Amino acid sequence: MIELLAAASIGAALLWLVVQPILAPSAAAPVDLDPIDPEETPRGQALLALKEIEFDRATGKLSEHDYAALKLKYSAAAIAALDAPVKRFCSNCGAALPDRAIFCAQCGERVSR
Ligand SMILES: [Zn+2]
Repeated sequence: MIELLAAASIGAALLWLVVQPILAPSAAAPVDLDPIDPEETPRGQALLALKEIEFDRATGKLSEHDYAALKLKYSAAAIAALDAPVKRFCSNCGAALPDRAIFCAQCGERVSR
């Protein structure tokens, strides 16, 4: 009887291991503890894209015509991001801060207004 119970609980545990990641894939995924990269801001992304197309043009992957079109697009995106409401970022970890934040929610650093 004890053996049967043990076998049943092992079976249940194995079933849980198989089913659990399917039911809760986010819980099974490794937690990303990296601070937010400042380059993930819209402006950072546009500036990164500008660097990339300059590199692609230099290496001959982009034609002069395509480069001009893309440069216009990404420059506009970078400028649009500058015009967006001023966002504050933690000087310690780069996380975006709510308007009235005194402490960074990401790393706990005290932030000046
Ligand atoms: Zn922070």
